Amino acid sequence: MKTDPDCIFCKIVAGQIPARRIYEDDHLLAFPDINPAAPVHLLVVPKTHLVNLDDTNTEHQTLLGNMLLLAPRLARERGATNGYRVVVNNGADGGQEVFHLHMHILGGPRPWNRL
Ligand code: 5GP
Ligand code: ZN
Repeated sequence: MKTDPDCIFCKIVAGQIPARRIYEDDHLLAFPDINPAAPVHLLVVPKTHLVNLDDTNTEHQTLLGNMLLLAPRLARERGATNGYRVVVNNGADGGQEVFHLHMHILGGPRPWNRL
């Protein structure tokens, strides 16, 4: 498990910054986005510090697959029953602000705040 002491999501994984732990297993953690863009807005992060998709390779196939498989499950469990959006921002021009790989799950009745 890699960790970056300056990384906000590593601190959430470690419990050093509070977050409501919606889902957790040995490798993944899901929690609500602090600034939700939609009625349901969750983040799913690997517990190990990966910068973004550029930092992944075939070793991460299972991890990445399991992240995607959480989207329909968590969307449904959180009440986004009429569709949802899955977003992964990568790099500056991709709009990435936190440089620890994360998947947004957005859903709930429209209109949304943004996106
Ligand atoms: P990005 O633009 O990097 O894809 O998205 C980063 C997301 O992380 C933003 O939507 C932002 O609201 C969220 N975020 C940033 N800091 C925190 C935090 O300390 N706690 C939580 N729960 N979300 C955060
Ligand atoms: Zn990190």
